[in-house]
Amino acid sequence: MDDRMFRTAMGKFTTGVTVIASEHNGEVHGMTANAFMSVSLDPKLILISVGENAKMNEILQEAQKFTVNILTENQQELSMIFAGQIKDRKVIFDTFEGMPVLEDALVSLACRVYDSYAAGDHILYIGEVINLSVQDGEPLTFYEGKYNQVTS
Ligand code: FAD
Repeated sequence: MDDRMFRTAMGKFTTGVTVIASEHNGEVHGMTANAFMSVSLDPKLILISVGENAKMNEILQEAQKFTVNILTENQQELSMIFAGQIKDRKVIFDTFEGMPVLEDALVSLACRVYDSYAAGDHILYIGEVINLSVQDGEPLTFYEGKYNQVTS
């Protein structure tokens, strides 16, 4: 089993797309992530997985809080901006529970870092959800390295 086969296999798992956002010293930083899952109802915990070389780690380790913004089908461009695929775009963030959130996201979760673990070449962050907002809309999806939409 080589890296390529592992990536191909994992790409068969259809996911939504999120932007993780956090702020430290007045700098808002966003990062696109699809490694996101719900973990626990009591307490309300979620998990994100961040590559060990991502800038987001420095921000999370300092701020100890972050938001998860689940993107709608109309927000592919935001996913590309925060994955570094579209450069030099200004993005305006709203504030929720004192944290940066993306306007019009399907869901925004405001989290504090509950725990973190090094796992291979990624860091797993467990977030305790302190508040959330939900809006109407359809999700952006990601499958086999391509964006898509839920069709019914
Ligand atoms: P950078 O690469 O420095 O920043 C990311 C980009 O966001 C840069 O272009 C930066 O200019 C821009 N940006 C940041 N903040 C702002 C702001 N305030 N205003 C405007 N632009 C800003 N990686 C993971 O580790 N885990 C995952 O689960 C994951 N899932 C992914 C899912 C998809 C669909 C895609 C496309 C990528 C995914 N990635 C994931 C890769 C990850 O998004 C990129 O490697 C990203 O560039 C890492 O961000 P960084 O924190 O290192 O910061």
